[in-house]
Amino acid sequence: TSIKKLAVFGNPIAQSKSPLIHQMFAEQFNMTISYERILGEELTFKDQLTDFFADANAVGANITMPFKEAAANWAHEKSTGVTKANAANTLIRQPNGFRAETTDGKGLVSDLLRNNISLTSKKVLLIGAGGAARGAIEDLLSEHPAHIYISNRSALNAQRLVKIAHDKRVSAVTENECQELSVDVIINATSLSLNGKFPAVGDAIFSSHPAVYDMVYQDADTCFIKKAKALGCTKAFDGLGMLVGQAAESFYLWFGLRPDVEPVLARMRQELTSSTKL
Ligand code: NDP
Repeated sequence: TSIKKLAVFGNPIAQSKSPLIHQMFAEQFNMTISYERILGEELTFKDQLTDFFADANAVGANITMPFKEAAANWAHEKSTGVTKANAANTLIRQPNGFRAETTDGKGLVSDLLRNNISLTSKKVLLIGAGGAARGAIEDLLSEHPAHIYISNRSALNAQRLVKIAHDKRVSAVTENECQELSVDVIINATSLSLNGKFPAVGDAIFSSHPAVYDMVYQDADTCFIKKAKALGCTKAFDGLGMLVGQAAESFYLWFGLRPDVEPVLARMRQELTSSTKL
């Protein structure tokens, strides 16, 4: 049988770890796949997709910034999560067209569970209301939290996310309201840690020692994780497991096989910590 073809589209794309992760998944099943990085171009992105999928062996693709919305619109069929967030990170060839899915939320939830963080009946503070938060809200709700509070720099974007969620368990909070909250889980879905910055939520929120998750990952603890640990939170994790988890979910959608995340995550952690020492 011919080799199945996959690719990740984004701009920039050179830094993407997806080819490495998916090759490791394929190895677990003794499969040979081709998985390339394709630099997307704003004006011709949809033609690039059409060209790639002209080959019948091209079974799917991952989509990253800034093409998640365009990919959602290109597909013939969309999951509920894609329709709500208007963003897709996975395309799947089907007999009569292409289906768009978003697996970031499942990757996040699976990594929370892997770290023994349950959301069931818990109060959650979700910081951020960008693409990552939008993509995750549906999957967070499906874990039956008691409530999800959304804190975001732009109140308008927070309100938009509340509207998208369309669930009485989701509400937006101001910075001041945040100071009064007591939550069980905090998820940082902003890009702030990339620049060594903290979201404006105050330190009081950490005093009940919630479990903490930062979607950003770096070669060492992000500043947000460092702060949470310094304030006594013992359960504090970065987003590398979410990255591997979303990939595992995409792999499952393409091939119907569930890869073992653990060894791949260990290898990715090793790559991350050693590459910066070069
Ligand atoms: P977006 O650009 O869509 O959203 C960025 C978010 O960060 C918004 O809520 C924005 O607030 C907030 N923000 C940015 N700068 C500031 C600032 N200076 N002060 C306060 N708030 C700020 O990005 P995404 O949602 O797509 O991604 C967010 C992060 O999550 C990224 O760093 C990305 O790397 C990470 N991520 C990780 C994944 C993983 O697998 N681990 C998967 C997906 C994303 P505002 O609305 O006010 O602009």
